[in-house]
Order: sequence, then C-alpha cells, then structure tokens
Amino acid sequence: MQRIAWDQFFMAQSYLISTRSTCTRLMVGATIVRDKRIIASGYNGSIAGGDHCTEHGCYIVDGHCIRTIHAEMNAILQCAKFGASTDNAELYVTHFPCISCCKSIIQAGIKTVYYGEDYKNHPYAVELFEQANVTTKKVEMSKDIFDREPFTSENITEAK
Ligand SMILES: [Zn+2]
Ligand SMILES: [Zn+2]
Repeated sequence: MQRIAWDQFFMAQSYLISTRSTCTRLMVGATIVRDKRIIASGYNGSIAGGDHCTEHGCYIVDGHCIRTIHAEMNAILQCAKFGASTDNAELYVTHFPCISCCKSIIQAGIKTVYYGEDYKNHPYAVELFEQANVTTKKVEMSKDIFDREPFTSENITEAK
C-alpha cells in the first residue's frame, strides 16, 4: 500500500472546500499550492457578510449567477489579502475555470492548473492558457483514497 499521490491529495482538498459553497448552481473548490504546501483555498460564494444564494436565491444575469465570487478568485484574493505570492504556484480546482478566472490565474503567475471535471471548457480559456504556457491537467479524484486501512509493517510500500 502506498501513500496517496500529491495530485489526489490536493484535489481531495479542493472537493472538501467546495462543500462550503453557498451557490446552489454549482459547488466549486480551489486550492493554491507552492512547494507542496497549501497556501490558500477558496470556494464559490458571496462576499463576506453578503446574502447567500442558499437563502436568497441566485442572482442571475445573462445566465450566470453574479452574486458569487468564484473559488479560484477567492483563493487568489486570499493570497492578496494575507500577502502570499502566487508566482509559479499550482492551482487545484474541482471544475475547469471560466474565462474570467482563467485570465486572473494567468495574471497571478500560476503555472499549472489541475482540474477535476470538465465544465463548459471555453475554447478561448484553453487558448489563453496555452499562450501563457500554463499547463492544464485533468485529475479525476478517486474516492478510494478515503477508504484506506492504516499502514502496517506488512502493507507499507515506499512512495515518492
Ligand atoms: Zn448563486
Ligand atoms: Zn470562474
């Protein structure tokens, strides 16, 4: 038995964070990682202290809920608020980022985006990531990681 892989570990973190989402349309979670350390996380929800979609309904304009800040933005803004550099960082997000988040991710200097599920992947976002040399990689989270036996001297194997 091996320890779980880093990409599974950080993606699981993003799914856990997504459970705090207050938007009833989609629950998204994001985690920013540098040197295998989590430096910030976010979920899609209203501004702090604002009305939640869960209580007041979504605020739909042109087919989008405008009440919420997206998970990726919330994670980046947490870095802005507390002064953590996002340059060369990695992002783990449960769903493929929208155009606005895509541009912010690039501009924040994030170099790799791991995403759990395809979600209306916009061709322009794909193109911008390519242009900016941001690697995107799909990492499907395996639920098996939560169903593990403790390590024993018999089942342990070295992991990288
Ligand atoms: Zn909403
Ligand atoms: Zn977005």
